[in-house]
Amino acid sequence: MQDLPKTAVQIRTLNKWYGAFHVLKNIDLHVQRGSRVVVCGPSGSGKSTLIRCINGLEAYQDGAILLGGTMLGSQAKATALARRQTGMVFQGFNLFPHLTVLSNCTLALRRVLGKSRKEAEDLALHHLRKVKIPEQAHKYPAQLSGGQQQRVAIARAMCLSPRVMLFDEPTSALDPEMIKEVLDVMIGLAQDGMTMLCVTHEMGFAREVADQVVFMDEGRIIEQASPKAFFGGAVHPRARMFLETIL
Ligand code: ADP
Ligand code: MG
Repeated sequence: MQDLPKTAVQIRTLNKWYGAFHVLKNIDLHVQRGSRVVVCGPSGSGKSTLIRCINGLEAYQDGAILLGGTMLGSQAKATALARRQTGMVFQGFNLFPHLTVLSNCTLALRRVLGKSRKEAEDLALHHLRKVKIPEQAHKYPAQLSGGQQQRVAIARAMCLSPRVMLFDEPTSALDPEMIKEVLDVMIGLAQDGMTMLCVTHEMGFAREVADQVVFMDEGRIIEQASPKAFFGGAVHPRARMFLETIL
């Protein structure tokens, strides 16, 4: 088997502008293979933009992103690589409404990886079982609760065997009673050793599974620590203030 590099994601002095607006400022971040990094920070601090750069949804102007040791460029080929190596889960589920749960999961397996229907469906059902909704396979997204839809989105991403799973506030559009079912699935992924980069304000989740907590403010990483150190006494006053508002 190919020897995988220890670092799943390396971000080196990343800078990005939207026009004149400097949205990401000198971001340096390493995500070790098998580790879990939680990113938090106030609204507008650049968390979504950062995650979108990693999976090639956004271009950036300066710095470098390496996925599994391979440098991402701005070319279409590099973007395809980023999409294949990263699984992305958004706040708003983003399932294809006109496809069943099963077809949502098998679409890329068949079209991108060229798997047979049987192979794709077997793999999809395996991941739907892992998120505990195999019985919903033939329903359409609109027939599911938000929590179930988000679990399908996780299963769909996992079908492509990503090297790293990226989550952008996966529970913030959910009713409170559904948050736990999604977090439980994410905790399961962590226990299976999945490399994860999660933007979330679920600090219970951060305490339980994160190896590192990263705090962003105005486009910069201003604090990066173990959960114990971060929750025990964040150093930066802005991080302390943020914690007071959400805990
Ligand atoms: P967060 O996810 O931390 O709330 P975002 O990454 O979504 O922050 O946004 C960071 C900043 O960039 C915000 O000020 C936002 O208004 C701005 N922004 C986001 N997307 C765009 C865009 N496509 N064009 C211009 N500005 C944007
Ligand atoms: Mg965001």
